[in-house]
Amino acid sequence: MTSTTIVDDTTLTIHSERSLFDVAVEQFSIAADVIGLADDLRARLSTCQREMTVHFPVKMDDGSVKVFEGHRVQHNRMPGPTKGGIRYHQNVTISEVKALAMFMTWKCAVVGIPYGGAKGGVKVDAKALSEKELENLTRRFTSELMPIIGPDTDIPAPDVNTNAQTMAWLMDTYSMNVGHAVPGVTTGKPIVLGGSEGRNEATGRGVVYAIEEAARDIDLDLYGATVAVQGCGNVGGIAAELIEEIGAKVVAISDSRGGIYNANGLNMKKVMAYKAETGSLAGFNDSEEITSEALLELDCDILIPAALENAITAENAPRVRARIIAEGANGPTSPEADLILHDAGILLLPDIYANAGGVTVSYFEWVQAMQAFPWSEQQVNERLRLIMSKSYAAMRDTSKANNVSFRTGALVRAIERVAEFTRIRGVYP
Ligand code: GLU
Repeated sequence: MTSTTIVDDTTLTIHSERSLFDVAVEQFSIAADVIGLADDLRARLSTCQREMTVHFPVKMDDGSVKVFEGHRVQHNRMPGPTKGGIRYHQNVTISEVKALAMFMTWKCAVVGIPYGGAKGGVKVDAKALSEKELENLTRRFTSELMPIIGPDTDIPAPDVNTNAQTMAWLMDTYSMNVGHAVPGVTTGKPIVLGGSEGRNEATGRGVVYAIEEAARDIDLDLYGATVAVQGCGNVGGIAAELIEEIGAKVVAISDSRGGIYNANGLNMKKVMAYKAETGSLAGFNDSEEITSEALLELDCDILIPAALENAITAENAPRVRARIIAEGANGPTSPEADLILHDAGILLLPDIYANAGGVTVSYFEWVQAMQAFPWSEQQVNERLRLIMSKSYAAMRDTSKANNVSFRTGALVRAIERVAEFTRIRGVYP
């Protein structure tokens, strides 16, 4: 049974009989089979080490008190501190947070940074809350998480509907509780609080670096290449601007309310300025309206699903016509759709590689905070480029060697790395 629901960032089809965590375990099992992973390691790596659910009160502007539900899940604590964003969304569930935490473990391993994966989420319609209510919610949720977060244990970052300001409140709350400033407790902070140059753009920039690697591999000239982008936030919006800067033509982009299309290319600077001014893409001149589902099926060279999970399914995958898909979102493609796209010869850059630029620069931010030694934006971008390039080659070679998709190839590398940590550390006590 499937049902279609309108949510904040896009329209998506929810397969109600299967959760995102089921999808994550399915993807894991495919790669574990390729490796021939031992049963004990399969059991350890396919479950989350720590799951915390809290219910907490928040003072609202009208004087009432509302209770919210939030989660923080740490999937694997073997490689180092755990790392991952916090999202505010009305559809947040523990199962979704568990899946996203597992994806973070693999993502960190794919780019070779010394973290395990974590994720957090609060079930809330963030757009219905005032700034003050969001601050109250963030501060109280952070207080609830105090026992399990910290610069050496678990380091949150922004995700869907959270941003640098959210991280500033989180960092301040943590710091007030321990009695001194702790910039390393979070990443994605404002630069003035110890945030990194380039962090805000890092996920979108990483998506574009990933596309450049893939395009070179299949001899696709990005100059004049056509691009469709689902999602116009910190990932989709920035990726669209940056890919336009290198000469590609963004023909369509969408947000939660729908999209805009122009076969000759949109002017992304104008689009982003219009969105910032009006809060939406609707009514942008020089364009036709398009739904965010129709956008996925456009005849284009590159498709960037950068909204929410489960955007490409068995239902619409046969109609996808792009040559390269770069997953800016986490979990936008179902396992059935993966097979269809692979058979169609579409080069799919999986989320755990394609959007790893965000957590990579988060790692740079954390290193800068721990050393109290800031880097220039140029240093940040050069190091990011190097990591995206090396990780691409490793993912491609592993995929070719095992005759599997890039997603499974990336997972094989990631799981092997985390399995090695886990095996060598042994079982305590
Ligand atoms: N929320 C982002 C992601 O899904 C960034 C996580 C981080 O920087 O820790 O990758």
